[in-house]
Amino acid sequence: MENVSVRNSKILVVDDVPINIKLQKTYLSAVGYEVIDAKDGLEALLKARKEKPDLILLDVMMPKMNGFQVCQKLKNGDNQFIPIIMVTALNEIEDKIKGIEAGADDFICKPFNKLELLARVKSLLRIKHLHDKLEEKVKELEEAHKQLRKLAITDGLTGLYNFRYFKDQLSQELNRGRRHKLRVSVVIIDIDYFKHYNDTHGHPAGNIVLKTIANLLRGNIRNIDIAARYGGEEFSLILVESDKKAAGIVAHKIKKLVEDYPFSYQETQPNGKLTISMGVATFPDDGFDPDELVNVADKRLYKAKENGRNLVIME
Ligand code: GH3
Ligand code: MG
Ligand code: MG
Repeated sequence: MENVSVRNSKILVVDDVPINIKLQKTYLSAVGYEVIDAKDGLEALLKARKEKPDLILLDVMMPKMNGFQVCQKLKNGDNQFIPIIMVTALNEIEDKIKGIEAGADDFICKPFNKLELLARVKSLLRIKHLHDKLEEKVKELEEAHKQLRKLAITDGLTGLYNFRYFKDQLSQELNRGRRHKLRVSVVIIDIDYFKHYNDTHGHPAGNIVLKTIANLLRGNIRNIDIAARYGGEEFSLILVESDKKAAGIVAHKIKKLVEDYPFSYQETQPNGKLTISMGVATFPDDGFDPDELVNVADKRLYKAKENGRNLVIME
């Protein structure tokens, strides 16, 4: 712990008198700290921001901006977690109170006692390094949490949103549609004769088809729309601010893209190629709530199957 603190610690010494800087530098460098310096408040603020020191030794008595003002500025800015030791000329209680009010973490009096200086520096650096470690852990946790949230709404095979997210979003989009009098369309998509494809060419080949179709869906809707894996070989789309006509254009485009895509082994399918069937339903024309809309779209999908597949049914 001790060695780690010394090796990784940069200390900023702020003093308007060069000999004071030199003295502190000598003491601190001798035990291995990296020491940088500033001759006034302004330079101290700039160096604190640029060099990110682990600790600041700050002289109180300086012309222009005094140590209290510098301390207050540092503690109110991005540098609030850098410990500050105020260096006072006399052991004045008034100075200490002012320093505490300005946010100082500790005090040391001139003339310096070398051992006291090193002990106070070491003690605050220990806290600073614990704080840094904690901050790093918090960042890692936040990142893990973000990943988890993403996983919870994503389908593992295709990377599309999952069914749960689709339902949540549809409900939200319908609320928005009601508030702003917007149309929202839902498309339910099912692969034609997919069992045949799987049984003939195996599950892994089937999975490649699922991923390919997922990419075609993702690549052919707007950023604001949602594409989800609805079930095993079923997909769903939410097309926001889209009436039936607009939804029909998107659905027909995707149907054609799948029809024209050169899927492996597709010639062995009952209709000679790999295709999809689609049912479309639009809010508020076909239903008012998510279940109602999905039911209507599902019925139309079923009709597409009955009418020969590779079809989009809108009415
Ligand atoms: P239809 O044209 O009427 O939709 O016929 P179908 O064969 O596609 O319909 P059915 O519901 O009978 O078959 C669905 C098949 O989808 C069953 C299964 O083999 C396949 N399937 C479901 N989930 C997955 C999956 O995650 N991976 C793979 N490879 N196949 C899946
Ligand atoms: Mg199915
Ligand atoms: Mg199917």
